[in-house]
Amino acid sequence: MRNRCNARSSESAVRILESKETSVDSATLAARYPFSHWGSSFILSSWGGEELREELLNESVYAKLGKIFSRAQRSAPETIPEVDYLYPENEVSAYIAIMSFLAYSDYPENYKMRLGGHYFGWITRRTVTLLESESQGTIREYYQTDLGLPLVAQGDIVSLSLKDYLAKASKFVSPPKRTLATLPLRRGEIILSKHQAADLAGDLTFAYLAGLLERKIQVARGATNKPAWISSVQTYMKEFIPESTMFDETVNRPNDPTKYPPCISLFVEQLAKRESIPHFARFAVASFMRQIGVEKDYVVKLFTTASDFRAEMTKYQVSHIYGEIGSHTSYTAPSCDSLKISRLCPIDGYCNPRLKHPVSVYLWKWRLAKGESRRATKAISNTE
Ligand code: SF4
Repeated sequence: MRNRCNARSSESAVRILESKETSVDSATLAARYPFSHWGSSFILSSWGGEELREELLNESVYAKLGKIFSRAQRSAPETIPEVDYLYPENEVSAYIAIMSFLAYSDYPENYKMRLGGHYFGWITRRTVTLLESESQGTIREYYQTDLGLPLVAQGDIVSLSLKDYLAKASKFVSPPKRTLATLPLRRGEIILSKHQAADLAGDLTFAYLAGLLERKIQVARGATNKPAWISSVQTYMKEFIPESTMFDETVNRPNDPTKYPPCISLFVEQLAKRESIPHFARFAVASFMRQIGVEKDYVVKLFTTASDFRAEMTKYQVSHIYGEIGSHTSYTAPSCDSLKISRLCPIDGYCNPRLKHPVSVYLWKWRLAKGESRRATKAISNTE
C-alpha cells in the first residue's frame, strides 16, 4: 500500500513539475509542505487554528482527526473515495495524525523514532523534489520562515550566511547529515543553486522534524490527555508492524571500549566532553551497553557528564531500557539502518556490510582481534 501511495505521490509531484507554475496559493503550498507555516495557516483557517510547530496540539484538532478516522471506519472499504494526494486537508491531517500517533502510541520510544525516521526520509525526499520546481521566492520564504535561515538572492543563485547555518545546525537534536566539506563555500557564505538549495532544505527539514518528534515524545510521556483514537490506530497497525520487529535478541560479551563501533565510540566521547547528544543516540548507547552485558550503573555513570544530566530521570530511563521497570521489556540497540536514517551513523557505508548492527560489529571486532576474521563475519551474519 505504501508503494502505491509513494507512486501516486511521485506522480503528483511530477505533474506539478511539468506544470511549471509561477505563482502558487498557500493552500497548495500547505499540501506540498504540510509541516510548514503554510500547513499551520491552512489548519488555522479551515479547522479553527493550530501552530504545527508546537509540541502539543489543541484538543479540538485531535477531536477533528478522531472524527475523520471514525468516518473512515464506518465506511465500507469500497465506498471510500480514492485519496487525492497533495490535496491540502489530506496532507495536513495526515501529517498531524502521523506525528500525534508517533508521540502518543505505546511503542518503545526508540521504535517511534525509527518509524519517524522512515516517514521523515520519505517526506523530505518529496520536499526536495517539489522545492526544485518552486520559484526562488517560495524557496526563500521556506528557508526564512520554517528553517529560520534567511537566503539572499543573487540572480539565479542564493547565498546563506555560514555563521547562521552553523548556529542553526548546532541546535538540531539530530544534526544535518551534510558536512561543511560538501557545501559550496565562498567568503563566509554558502552559495547555492536552486537544486542545491532544495537539497539542503531537505536535509535541514529532516533534522527539524526529528527534533520536533523528539520534543513531542518527551511532552507526551507524562500526558493524561492522550487522544482516544491513538489506541484504535495502534491496534490496526499491528497488522502492519509485528511486535517482534521492535525487540531483538540479547548477547553478552566483555566490555571493551576499543572495540566499540564508530557510532558508539562517538556518542560516548561526546558525552565525556559534556556535549548534548540526541535522545536516540542516548538510547543507542544504553541499549548497546545492556546488550553486551554492561552493568546498569556503568551506563548511568556515562551520562553523568552530559550537559543536561538529571540523575533521577537518567536512572529511570536506563532502568526502563534494561527492562527493570515499565513494560519490563529489555531493549536492544537500533540497527545501522535505523541510525543512518536518523543521521547518527558517523561513517559513509557500513563498518561491515554483512552485519549492519552495532552489536554485531562489536562482536566481529572482538573476534577479529582473536584472529577469527572470516569465520567471525560468517557466524555473526548467520545470526542476523
Ligand atoms: S555502520 Fe553501523 S556500526 Fe558502523 S558506525 Fe554506522 S551505525 Fe555504527
